[in-house]
Amino acid sequence: MEEIRPGVSIIYGENKGRFPYAHSLYLEGERCALIDTGAGEALQQLSGRVDAVYLSHYHRDHVAGNSLFAGASFFIHSLDAPGVTSEEGFYRLSGLGEIGKPYWSTLKQKGFTATSLTGELGDGETINLGGLTLQVIHTPGHTPGHCAFLVEEYALVFTADIDLSSFGPWYGNLTSNLEHFQESVQKVRSLNAQFLISSHSRPVTEHIDQKLEKYGAIIEQRHEIVYRLLRQKAMTLEQLIDLKPIYRRHPDPAPVYRFFEGNMLRQHLAVLQSRGLVHYSEEEKLYEAR
Ligand SMILES: [Zn+2]
Repeated sequence: MEEIRPGVSIIYGENKGRFPYAHSLYLEGERCALIDTGAGEALQQLSGRVDAVYLSHYHRDHVAGNSLFAGASFFIHSLDAPGVTSEEGFYRLSGLGEIGKPYWSTLKQKGFTATSLTGELGDGETINLGGLTLQVIHTPGHTPGHCAFLVEEYALVFTADIDLSSFGPWYGNLTSNLEHFQESVQKVRSLNAQFLISSHSRPVTEHIDQKLEKYGAIIEQRHEIVYRLLRQKAMTLEQLIDLKPIYRRHPDPAPVYRFFEGNMLRQHLAVLQSRGLVHYSEEEKLYEAR
């Protein structure tokens, strides 16, 4: 746990916050709040010290420790609420279904605990913790209800899975949306934050705008990669997935990564079609560059 501003601490996730872990943010005003519960072991020390938990989105690496805070109130955006209140809702939002079940059993943070929600988060809503003010910024794309949080006193933003990772933006669930993700990156840039903390990377204090711009631009670069592959030859979606243009490799369990790769590629193909650059032949199930 590192106090980075008075009353604001980062709880670093195990294994440097890599999936299935994620960093959390702890806020100590007159009331104490926690953003996300996927940091692992380090959260034990906060059990009993948290009044409210705000969840950035429904993914398990962000909610795995919910049961540690049984006395706290829980909040999430309404569009992601089904993903934490029932296991069926989790599989529906992610689209993972039967492919996902063996996957979760291989992870260190596992098991699904249904969470009872106290309320829902709305875009622009401010939460007064007594000495610290938290503003909710709805940033959909990664998931439909993904939210960032601005600590107004310090122009400090917690951007969750707008994570500035070298992999780039991730929108591999059935309900993810690449264009919403791009808009959300712009929305975060417009905050002109002085301090950016995300769920899986180191905190950023310098060149925040340039780093966000570079990260968001990866989506456009992926459009070009897919288009160039189709210029070489027309392909079905399955053939494109085989080339792994986004992931590069599909580790075990490969069906899960193929599923994510396919969901992401499908969105790129839809944009390329809407730009008139790619034509889809229904009969042959082939995508062809124009
Ligand atoms: Zn996520």
